[in-house]
Amino acid sequence: MSFPSNQNPRLHSGETLFINGVFEAASTGATRTIKCPANGVEVAKVSEAGQADSERAIAAARQSFDSGVWSQVPAGERGDFLLKVADRLIERKAEFALAETLDTGKRLVESEIDMDDIAACFRYFGKLAGQDMGRLVDAGDINVLSRISYEPVGVAAMITPWNYPLLQAAWKIAPALAAGCSFVLKPAELSPSTSILTMEILAELGLPAGVANLVTGTGAEAGAILSEHRDVDLVSFTGGLVTGRKVAAAAAGTVKKVALELGGKNPNVIFADADFDAAVDNALNAAFVHSGQVCSAGARLVVEESIAEKFVDELVRRTQNIVVGGPFDEKAETGALISEDHLAKVDAYVQAGIAEGARVRCGGRRATAQDGAGLEDGSFYLPTVLDQVSRGMSVVVDEAFGPVVTVETFSTEDEAVTIANDTDYGLAGAVWSQDASKTQRVAGRLRHGTIWINDFHPYLPQAEWGGFGQSGVGRELGPTGLGEYQEAKHIYQNLDPQVTGWFK
Ligand code: NAD
Repeated sequence: MSFPSNQNPRLHSGETLFINGVFEAASTGATRTIKCPANGVEVAKVSEAGQADSERAIAAARQSFDSGVWSQVPAGERGDFLLKVADRLIERKAEFALAETLDTGKRLVESEIDMDDIAACFRYFGKLAGQDMGRLVDAGDINVLSRISYEPVGVAAMITPWNYPLLQAAWKIAPALAAGCSFVLKPAELSPSTSILTMEILAELGLPAGVANLVTGTGAEAGAILSEHRDVDLVSFTGGLVTGRKVAAAAAGTVKKVALELGGKNPNVIFADADFDAAVDNALNAAFVHSGQVCSAGARLVVEESIAEKFVDELVRRTQNIVVGGPFDEKAETGALISEDHLAKVDAYVQAGIAEGARVRCGGRRATAQDGAGLEDGSFYLPTVLDQVSRGMSVVVDEAFGPVVTVETFSTEDEAVTIANDTDYGLAGAVWSQDASKTQRVAGRLRHGTIWINDFHPYLPQAEWGGFGQSGVGRELGPTGLGEYQEAKHIYQNLDPQVTGWFK
């Protein structure tokens, strides 16, 4: 079939930096060609920013913040603005979903769902903004007026990954604007298109120049300075653990606030008394939605010994039936990996596991033309189930971030909890059982930021999202997600000042 293309000339212009309200080229004139990972077709040409461009963007954000042009706008009005952003995103949903799909190779239907989630995020923070009134504090003295006001943190730098490009950016942009911050966004170099289009919307709806700034480019060239720069008050990063450590270390030099949303190695715990069909079905979703390129992917299946054989047989049978295909193939159930480099990384984890004794029940290799017409043209990997794994294997310990699930078994509730918590990460996990008290008990013992019971993957804009352990620092979404972009200020007024007599 013919391959659609972005119609918006901006995405082919090579002028995609957005600094102080103006789209422009990188100061060096450098550009990057974005290719769809499903077939290598060129889909966009964007500016490749360097450090000097990021510094200009930081200066614009600083100037706009210090001027009060946005931070002094009443919070309710800032909220109204976010509601308009949500409406405009939905009006342009088809264009945005296409752009995201072309950058990532993600199935179009998934990108369309993402756009609804993005609009919901803007709506949530739009409504929350006006409710943020601070609070009075009882100072224990009738002549003292003491209150806490929540003020914008200042200039926020935002660094985002490629798996849910605009959703991850929206989780930062919406609370930052609600709080009254100015920001500089650096999206992943492989998937900048929807971030660029979002700048069009913010400008068109009248956000003052300099409040929103965008640099498209690599982490090393455009991103690193955002963590280091003294004029940035907060760096909010979503991405891998190794990069997250670098961001935190670079931010330490200026002791700025740091928010980190990192990876996960998420357990999906199945007790023998679970609803079998629902648990198998959701184990597929957990591991293989978006080809496993999901921070909360259920990549570790932890199943009770007494049902393990039957459960895994059925899981394997259904995994073998998953249709892998291109983004516009309506029969496809899962799509491409983001790049050839990433596919090689995923395969290396699988091959290392096999070398250490894991058994491949299905998949375990890249897809070829025999698996589906056209798959040889893109970065497609077959959904993979590995059993007979052991705890020390890298495929069990590290985030492969691909369509790979490992199977471990347990005999007791304690053992299930021990295995589920045996990770340096702590992002998310699930518990499956029809015994409500057991699920609540186990959920309470799991050291992960989100626990699903008899479900997998749902998240809510009104509920905090983030990790225990090395899955991160801080929270996105929910009231805490707004709080990341605020400083609490205590204002203490003595209404009846007296001579204290302390110093004679
Ligand atoms: P990555 O760490 O390679 O890159 C993330 C971003 O950091 C990109 O924009 C990149 O250009 C930038 N970057 C790279 N080096 C940098 C540096 N030295 N300084 C500043 N910025 C730098 O991650 P990725 O491969 O794009 O994304 C996949 C990872 O993201 C996975 O580990 C996944 O679990 C994680 N993730 C987490 C969440 C969450 O909510 N916890 C959500 C989505 C993705």
